[in-house]
Order: sequence, then structure tokens, then C-alpha cells
Amino acid sequence: MENPLLSKGQFAQYDKIKPEHFVPATKEILDYAKKENKKLIDFTGERTFDNTLVPEMEISEEVSKVVSPMSQLYSTMTSDEINQEFQKAIQLLTEFGNEMSMDPDNYKMYKDYAATAEAKALTGEKKRHLDNTMKGFILSGAELNDADKDKLKEINLKSSELSLKFSNNIVKSNFELVIKDKKDLDGLPEDSIIGAREKAIAMKIDEGDENTWVFNLDMPSFLPFMKFANNVELKEKLWRAYFTRGTKEGLDNRPLIQEILKLKKAKANLLGFKTFGEFSLEKKMAESPEVVMDFLDNIAVKTEDVSLEEFNEVKGLKEEAFGEKFETLMPWETSYWTNKLKEKKYSFNENEVSEYFSANETLQAFYDIAKELYGIKFEKIDNIPVWHKDVQTFKLVDENNELRSYVYVDLYPRTGQKRPGAWMSGIVSGMNYNGKKTIPQVGVHCNFTPPIGDKPALLRYDEVTTLFHEFGHALHGALSQTQFSATSGTNVKWDVVELPSSFHENFVKTEESLKMIAKHYKTGEPMPKELMDKLLNANDFMRASDARRQITFGMFDMSLHHTESMKDELPLAHEISKKMMVKYNNTPFIDDSYFEAGFSHIFAGGYAAGYYSYMWANILDADAFSLFLEKESVLNRDAGKLFMENILEKGDSEDMNVLFEKFRGRPVSDKALLERLGIK
Ligand SMILES: [Zn+2]
Repeated sequence: MENPLLSKGQFAQYDKIKPEHFVPATKEILDYAKKENKKLIDFTGERTFDNTLVPEMEISEEVSKVVSPMSQLYSTMTSDEINQEFQKAIQLLTEFGNEMSMDPDNYKMYKDYAATAEAKALTGEKKRHLDNTMKGFILSGAELNDADKDKLKEINLKSSELSLKFSNNIVKSNFELVIKDKKDLDGLPEDSIIGAREKAIAMKIDEGDENTWVFNLDMPSFLPFMKFANNVELKEKLWRAYFTRGTKEGLDNRPLIQEILKLKKAKANLLGFKTFGEFSLEKKMAESPEVVMDFLDNIAVKTEDVSLEEFNEVKGLKEEAFGEKFETLMPWETSYWTNKLKEKKYSFNENEVSEYFSANETLQAFYDIAKELYGIKFEKIDNIPVWHKDVQTFKLVDENNELRSYVYVDLYPRTGQKRPGAWMSGIVSGMNYNGKKTIPQVGVHCNFTPPIGDKPALLRYDEVTTLFHEFGHALHGALSQTQFSATSGTNVKWDVVELPSSFHENFVKTEESLKMIAKHYKTGEPMPKELMDKLLNANDFMRASDARRQITFGMFDMSLHHTESMKDELPLAHEISKKMMVKYNNTPFIDDSYFEAGFSHIFAGGYAAGYYSYMWANILDADAFSLFLEKESVLNRDAGKLFMENILEKGDSEDMNVLFEKFRGRPVSDKALLERLGIK
């Protein structure tokens, strides 16, 4: 039987691949990879970049040709069968990955090469790839003696157990707010009430009484309640439940946090770093924990006054409504009054706005903007296999008519088949070395409001922003011009990956370019100025306060993993979280609240000593876009060319600090971000 996953063609045969192909194809490709790898290890001649690192990359590319279509199908067309077979394949791939990174002979091969005169004289992208590879090995413990290797293994194992326990404790910390009095629903939008009613039915706690509603701590239930419900006592109840997740007996995350922090520090020490913060930044653009903390602190200091003004304006609205003065706002009230203020200042009808953003026209507007900026054209094609009939495919050609990439666009949800949210996928990484060239393939995946009847799909404004965001990632992969796949496109340092995506959001938030996007779906009329002004101004609403919220989390994270962890006795995470909350927030600190006990990003996810990266991406994108704002038009081709040639085409072939300076003519500055936050 021929396995379509193993076909040698340029495009994956999505129309022929079945779940039963997953495991056999994975086994076959891994056998091939092991055999080829062994040949390379056993080679006894003089090692060169071309006979050692290049073939290693080629092996990875072959493996990726099998893995990539499986993961596309898993995330966009899943079924029980696909899920089951994909998990089996992933298991095999993980085992293979572990084997490779632990194999001393494999490491020795790279080390032997790194010791050659050729390796020492490398420059540019080749040097970058070798350095990245060696660093990867060293940070996984390849240089440790056997006893320390065992210690590291134990630390890694224990850490993942604790992280799992941490997130399970949060999941189990559920709380139901049961409402029996219709009056308590006042203020809530219809869909949120329907959701609460459905919960009551599903949980069978309504005993047939249709006046029973349930809210819980899941975001789609929790957030609208905090934002819209008029009943302040109930909001307080729900808020307190949320901020005591992971603190009840048997589910207490607080001791786990201290243990996790100790293990992280032990790991960093074992690998030769003073703190986990230093270890984490070894793989990021930001140079040191001090640089990160200075950057956050500087923005915090400069946004203090503006954020207090924002807070007082929100409080003022409550005072106006009640006809009396209040000393402060409690944390469970802010979302509600902030939303009221936003409605008052910028209220617009969501449906009316959507009429100006039909999906296909919006897509076309992105292509038009990209053409203006970079001279590239998206040309529709229909002769390559897709995973679903709704997927549109394009060929991307540049101004010299050279083919640059293939793009798959999949906009609408498929319940039960497609994972939620929006994302970009690097389906095939580009490369171009020694006469061998691979054209990159990328995917843009969204779950937008689908077309209803004969009306075209109309997007909400935030969906338009999401579309530009994901297309920003897509261009990073699609326009890549690196020599190697390992350094191409979005394979960049972790705190840099959101630069192209957040950068392209700016075109949705700037009048000149928004005018190109917003056209009435029936008449093609431009959006009325008054409506457009509201949309644009609403983008700036409460920006300083939002930034300080991010700073609270970022500083908490970096202090714990760096400055505080250098002390002889590690302080309680709660003391640090309280300190940060008090320092950066305008609402009073609530004594028995423990946001850290629910902070899975850093205690159960991959964000430890990395939470700052959200703000970091903003500083980069604001500074990058400020070049376009300095020009007569934000669609300036010269600026676009600089951004394309120095950022979008370069992947990880050079350090981003260097690339950014080439693009901007100077190092990164926070001036543009501060201006965006309302600080002149
Ligand atoms: Zn993104």
C-alpha cells in the first residue's frame, strides 16, 4: 500500500491522507532518520559544515514533511481516529527527540565539528546555526558529568510533575455561582444568560426550575459577569473565588510554587547560571534580567500618572452615577465601570461596524496593503490539495515576479474538527543553499463569524485585527530568504516572534490604512468618519493601565526568578505578588487574594522568566511602526522594503538586535511605545 504521507511531492496530499497512514509513515521516516544519523555519526573523515550540519538539517526536513501534514489535519480536521493516531505518532517522535538529545555520540559529532578550524572561522548564518545548536545541547545538560546528568533528569521530571499538579489544582478549584433570582442577572447580555442557563441544565442543579442560572470561573462565564452584571455583591463573590483558586486544602498551589522555584534555581545552578532568569534569557533576545527589569520599570514609572488619570476617570463615572464621592474602586468593580465608560465615550453598534468588514474584502485589503508595502502579490490558485473545501490557496510572488511562497487560508470554524482561536502554521520552512531551494508554505487559520445565508461573512473589528496579526506571522514565514530551514521564518528567539504579527495590527489601527479596509459590504461606501473615529479612539482606551497590568505580572515573574532568588532564603511568592500589585495597581490590594496560585503561565506553562515578552513585542512593533508614521504615508514603500529586507526575510539568521538596528538605523527605543500609551 502506498502511503501518501511518504510521497515525495512538493505538496502534502491532504485529499488522500487517512489516519491509518500516520503511525506507519512516522515509523518509516524515523527509521530512515536514525539510519542516516548513524551514518553521520560513524563518519571518520574530516568534518565540515556541509558534511555534518547540512545533512542533519536535511534529515529534520524529511521528518517534518511527514509531521507537518499530520499536525495540520489534527488541528483543522480532527476526529477521534485522527486524534488517537496523532497521539501515537507524537509519542514516537518525542522518544526519538529525547534519544537524539541524550545521545553522547550525537553530541560528540557536533562537538568534533565545532572544534575544527572551519567551524571556528564561520561567520553569518552558518555560525548562528552552529551556535544555536551547541547552545541547545549545553542547555539540555550535554556537558554535565553523569552524576549531574542524573540530577538534571530528576529535576526535570519533578518539575513537570509539579507543573501538572499545579494546573490540575486550578482546574479542580471550581466554583459555581448559582442564581435563582432573575434580578441578579440585570445588566448581563443575552448570550451570557443563555450560557448560564445551559450550565444549570447540564449540571442538573436546576431541578427543572427554569429560574436557575450558573456562572463559574471559566473565562466565557467569568469575564462577562464581571464586566456587565449590576449586582456588586455577587461580583465580589465570584472575584474572590477566582483569586483564591489553588489555595483550598488538598488543592493548595502555594507550597508548590516555592518548590517549583527551588527546582528552577537548582537547574540553573547546575547548568552554570546564577538564577533561572539568567538561564531563561540565554535563549532570548533580551540580554539579561536586569535589562528586562529596567525596561519594565522605566515604562512603569512613565505611565504612573496617566494610568491614575485613567483610573480616576473610571471612578468618576461611578461617582456620577451614585451622586457621591468614593475613595477608591474595588478590584471586582473596575471591569464593570471601565466598560461603562468605554460605552459612554465610544459606543458603537458591533453589527453596524461589521457591515464594513466583509471577510473576502478584508482579505483583499490586506493583500493590497502588502502590495503597497512590499511589492508582493497574492495570486489565487486552485490546483493544490487542501484539507477542506473552504480553504483558499494563494501563490505569493514578489515585484520581480519571483515565486516566494504558497499560502493556505482557512477562515471559518468547523465545530468539533478545528481547534478554537486563530493561528499561523509554518507548513514547510524555506531554505536556499548550494543550489537546493525550498519554497516555504504557510497557513493562516481562524475561527471567524461564518457567512449566514447569502450574506457574506462579516467580521467584527477585533477579528479584522486578528486576521492582520496572523498574516503578519504568515509573511514572516512566507518571505523568508535564509539559507537554512533551521534559521528561517518564525524559527526566531522566543521574545521576538510576535514582532511581525503585532506590527501588522497597526494597519488596522491607523486611519489611512483602515480606510482601505473598511468598505460597506453592499455599497462599497467608506465607513462614516464619526464611526471610524470611535473605532480608532477606542484602541487607545485605558492603554496605560493595561500596560501596568502586564508590568505587574512581568515584574513579579522576573523578580521571583532572578533578584529574589539570589537571596539566601527565597521569600514567599505571595509577598512579592502583593508588593507588585500594590506598586503598579490603582485598586487596593485584597489581603486574602492569591493571584499567583492561579498563574499557570509561569508555574505550569513555558513563560517562567519570559512573561515580559508581551511588552517586549509591543516595544518592538511600536518602534518599527513609528518609522512608517514618520513618512507621509504609512504605506511607504521605502520603509516597507527596509522592514521586509531586514526583518521579514531574515528569520533567525542574525541576532534581532543587529537586524533591528539595520532596519531602523539605530537600536530599539521605547519612545514610540510610550507615545502609544499616552505619554508625550
Ligand atoms: Zn501571534
